[in-house]
Amino acid sequence: MNLTQGRSYLAIPGPSVVPDRVLAAMHRASPDIYGAALHDMTRKLQDDLKRLAGTGQHLAIYIANGHGVWEAANANLFSSGDKVLVLVTGFFGTAWAGITAHAGVEVEMLDFGAAAAADPARLKERLRQDPGRRIKAVMVTHTDTASSVRNDLPAIRAAIDAAGHPALFMVDAIASMGCDPLEMDDTGIDVVLAASQKGLMLPPGLGFVWFSERARQAAGQGAPVSRYWDWQPRAFAQEYYQNFAGTAPTHHLFGLSEALSMILAEEGLAHVWARHRRLAEAVWAAVGAWGEGGDVRLNVAAPEARSSSVTLVRFGGGVAGALRAWCRDTAGVTLGIPLGIAAPDEPAYADYLRIGHMGHVNAHMVLGLLAAIEAGLQAQGAPHGTGAIERAAAVLAAP
Ligand SMILES: *Cc1c(COP(=O)(O)O)cnc(C)c1O
Repeated sequence: MNLTQGRSYLAIPGPSVVPDRVLAAMHRASPDIYGAALHDMTRKLQDDLKRLAGTGQHLAIYIANGHGVWEAANANLFSSGDKVLVLVTGFFGTAWAGITAHAGVEVEMLDFGAAAAADPARLKERLRQDPGRRIKAVMVTHTDTASSVRNDLPAIRAAIDAAGHPALFMVDAIASMGCDPLEMDDTGIDVVLAASQKGLMLPPGLGFVWFSERARQAAGQGAPVSRYWDWQPRAFAQEYYQNFAGTAPTHHLFGLSEALSMILAEEGLAHVWARHRRLAEAVWAAVGAWGEGGDVRLNVAAPEARSSSVTLVRFGGGVAGALRAWCRDTAGVTLGIPLGIAAPDEPAYADYLRIGHMGHVNAHMVLGLLAAIEAGLQAQGAPHGTGAIERAAAVLAAP
């Protein structure tokens, strides 16, 4: 029976749910782009975004998605012939490496598979074997959205330091910003990347590049950067248009202002992180219960290596594909497809799905989507353990 009428729920790892408040803030006439009000709001947004990433250093905003900020950082930092080391823990690490190699950069990957965090000891060993200091940057996804592996950024920083290596430390935080703790300056990160459509609860269209003074100086030593990608005028704009190398993304800025008020001024960033963790733990508890009576398990075994914003789950025997279809077509919940696990025409593709729990998500939404999956398992006649919803509820009921 079709039970989809009601508010639909896109529970994928981006784009995420956009709060009505954010939509309402965007629903307005075009603002005066010459006026002080927009300019003042932009300055406050830049300050708040730096708070969000835990930095007092530099920020460039791009009208771009995540792929755009990958390009932006690369364009500023690397010239053809430079060498970088990418720590790969899933499809997004591989994709970042690929885009970087395409730009003529020599890319070496340290691949840790797609179910465990990057091993800092292996990184330290590799950096020790770079006596010429050719590796210009160490690049890592904080959360790899495909595998749902979360990497330990302070441990990676410590490994770079232990090797005594001067490489820049670059973090793709597109899936973790506003979801999992990240402190750019305290951790000693040189470049942090994020985009608007994940933890920040906006439509796709804004990309953020935070960069350290060290990264700024390193950028100045390479080949000239195209005017559009150059982060310098954006970060140190003399004229308003330079903030965006052209027309400002006016309506996105109003939405961003509302979203950052919700995160920083109202809920508070520490609570936002704790909420994401708790909701993720509820998802893991449910999956654990299902797995006691069927071929169901989390992709990432170690809790400390699990993202708080997305969870890759195996429902073997092709059940995941059937579940995704059932939840979408019968329950009004859309779950995420697997990425990089198998090609769409391979059987294993139907064994995995991703649950997005990032951004504007609360207890009843997570309970609702878990219960929809539970109903879907029953509808498929798929073997599964019982008590998943009780276990998720117990996680949420704890103080
Ligand atoms: C979503 C995502 C990207 C790509 O972002 P797009 O906006 O789709 O270009 C890159 N890296 C990570 C970790 C992501 O989650």
